[in-house]
This record gives sequence, C-alpha cells and structure tokens, in this order.
Amino acid sequence: MNSNNLSLPSLTVAKFGGTSVADYTAMLRCANIIKNDPSVRLVVVSASAGVTNHLVRLGQENVPQEEQESIIASIASIQLNITQNFPTEIEQSLNLSIHELLDELANIALSQSNQYSAKNADAILSFGEQFSSRIFAQVLRSIDVAGEYFNVQQVMKTNSLYGKAVVDEQQLKQSSQSLLLPKLTDKVIVTQGFIGEDGLGNTTTLGRGGSDYSAALLAEALDSERLAIWTDVVGIFTTDPRITSQAKAIKEISFGEAAEMATFGAKILHPATLIPAMRCNIPVFVGSSKEPEKGGTQIKKQVESTPTYRSIALRREQTLVTVKSPAMLHASGFLAQVFSILAKYELSVDLVTTSEISVALTFDNPSGSTQALITTSVVEELEQLCEVTVEHGLSLVAVIGNGLNCAKGIGQTIFETINETNIRLICHGASSNNLCFLVSERDANGVVEKLHNTLFA
Ligand code: ASP
Ligand code: MG
Repeated sequence: MNSNNLSLPSLTVAKFGGTSVADYTAMLRCANIIKNDPSVRLVVVSASAGVTNHLVRLGQENVPQEEQESIIASIASIQLNITQNFPTEIEQSLNLSIHELLDELANIALSQSNQYSAKNADAILSFGEQFSSRIFAQVLRSIDVAGEYFNVQQVMKTNSLYGKAVVDEQQLKQSSQSLLLPKLTDKVIVTQGFIGEDGLGNTTTLGRGGSDYSAALLAEALDSERLAIWTDVVGIFTTDPRITSQAKAIKEISFGEAAEMATFGAKILHPATLIPAMRCNIPVFVGSSKEPEKGGTQIKKQVESTPTYRSIALRREQTLVTVKSPAMLHASGFLAQVFSILAKYELSVDLVTTSEISVALTFDNPSGSTQALITTSVVEELEQLCEVTVEHGLSLVAVIGNGLNCAKGIGQTIFETINETNIRLICHGASSNNLCFLVSERDANGVVEKLHNTLFA
C-alpha cells in the first residue's frame, strides 16, 4: 500500500452487476455478502437489471411521448418495487429522491425527443446507476452496515466522448485519495459504475457493461488489495455453459488468459476491467451473489497450474474484410495505407492474416451497435487502393490457454476435431495465450461444443 495513504486495513472493492441488484431480495443477498466481509468498504453498483436497456431506448431519436411515458413507468416500477420493502418512513423519503430523479429523467427525455444529442443520451443512460446506488446504500443500512451514497462523478472525470468516455486516471487517483479514502475508515461507500463527468460538468458513460471497468479503476486509485466482481454465474467457465453443459467453472486463471477471454467474447467481464488490475497486480474474484458459498474464479498474476487449454471463447457478429492488390507484390507501404484509412474511421482491427497480395482483417460488431461498422465511405476509400470484399455472418472462436504458440500438436488436435467445418481464417503464433479462427455463424455452437469435448474431456 502507498505510504501516503491513511492506514487502513485491507480494502476490497466489490462490484455488483445488474442481476445482483435486480430486486430487493437480490440486493439483500449482496448486502449480507458485504456484512460478512469487513474488508469491503467501497461498493460499485450497476443499474438494476433491465433499467439500462430501457434507458437506451429512451435516449434514442424521436421516441414518441407515449412510449417515453411507458418506459419511465416501467423503470419506476422496478425501483419502487424495491423500496416498498423498507419501513414506511424510509420508503417515503427514498421515494422522494427517486421521484425527483424520475422527473429529471422525463425532462431530459422530452428534450431529447425534440432534438437528439449524444450528450443527452449519456445523461439519460446514467440514471440507472443513480437509482440503484441510492437504494442499495439504504439496503445496507437496513442490516446495520454503515452504507453511504457517493456520487462517483466527483472523482470519475472523463473526456467528452459520449458513450465511450475515457477516464482521467491521474485525476481519479488524486480525488479518490482525497475525497473517498477518508470516508472508508468508518463507512461502506456505495457508488455508481459506468458513469462519469466531463470537464464541462456533463454526464458521460464508459460504454455498455462499463461498471466492471469503473470498479477496477477505483480499486487501482485506492490501492485496494482485492477487486470482487459479483455477478449471476459462479465464476468464469471453460466455455459458455449455454453452449455445452460440460462447461466447468475455473478456480484460478492468470490475468493474461482472463484478458483474452474477456476480449474474445466471454461476456462475464468488461474487456477493459483487467487493465487496471494487471497494472497494479490487484487480484480479481468473480462469483455469483446468488450462491456466494459456491466460491468463484480467482484471477491473478501467478497461478498454480498453467494448462495448455484453459477455455474456449466465442464472439459472434464478426465482419471480415479482405483487401487485395497485385500492387502489394514486393511493394512497401501498402499495409500502412490500409491501416491509416482504418485509423481515420476509428476502426479497431482484431485479427489480421496476410498473403503476398491480400490482407484479411476482422472487426467486432458488438450487438446493439446502431451503426454499420464498415460503412460505404470506408469501403470506397479502401477501393481507391485495392479490391475490397466484406463478409458478415461469421463467428470468432478463440482457444485460450498457455504456451499455445510453442506446444506441439495443437493445430492437429484442434483442426482434426472440427475437420468437417469450413474455417475461414486462422490466427496463431502472435500470442502464447490464444489460437483464433473464424467459422460461419451457423457452425459456431457446434464447433465450440466439439472442441470442448475434445480439449476438456
Ligand atoms: N448498467 C450499464 C449497462 O447495462 C453498465 C453495467 O451494467 O456495467 O451496460
Ligand atoms: Mg456486466
């Protein structure tokens, strides 16, 4: 721990996801987890399940007023169903602040439907966490834990990239140490994930699922000893248990492997979460708030076993762009030109393979994204340079493990298992932690199931 810090016993930052704070019973379970672990003194919450999805719709362009009203009524009912479990006096005073927030939300939604702005969309999105954090602090107090609401916007300063704001980490460190840390000596502070504030005082958000990342950034800023991510599954699995019932929970996994899993589609953690944790070597626990007694997965730097195969991740909705130019033969600078066009459109490339005259590139197309990722302008600009083909309907399968770039027989084992499947592209060798390939969306589940049977028999 930093020697400038107030001396505190070990500190755990605990983050509770949407299903963990979905209703009163779920919140009460989380509150008891905190009560049983006195090291938890900073709690980061997501919005109650479903609320952010409602807010996404509310923040869109031209939402009819009737629909706005019905969305706000649905959100109100989720939150008020929770507060009705408190003694009347507490319920009334909490509902007062909830109704204030609901009125404010209705006003922003109205002006948004008159004139859309990305700024207002973020303001609207932020309400879910504002509701849940206020309510959860009260749930803690109801079981005699000194829960206190804290507005994270005091410390989580960001740029103005609405929907994907970038956090000023230095400022976060300083203000967390001065504004948050002193409170942690005798309180359990409850704050919001996902949201921040830009230099002009406008609300920003860090991207869907961003609460995990908020919690990791706060854990880093407070020199915390541990980050606990409480969700609705008992840890990280060898693959998505909805694809095969053979999937098993993983007890321990290294940062590197877990980061690959988060990046390649295991939905359990926001992909950026492990960056601060790795930077400061803060172990991360992932478990289910429904079944805390079942334990979960520990993600850390040093793990006892480093098996060749750890897990299989699947990421759907991939776009494959192939660029081809005979001019590339023995020429230099072609790749630089292609990448500079992609950079100009802020497209981030995932996998790359090249041949003498062509390059294949994959792009993630996260569901819920409203824009076509590879727009006609991108294609037109690339076409001035080369022939361009765009393919959709593909899935990326990532086999994750250790020493995959140097172990013998990996390729044979993997590809023999799925030899009846057409494989569109293979990436292997750049990372010791993964081997990735693309298959058609249709084949994806079957491929994962077969591979899981072979690799984790
Ligand atoms: N409530 C936000 C979302 O649903 C952030 C989060 O839950 O992590 O995306
Ligand atoms: Mg999440």
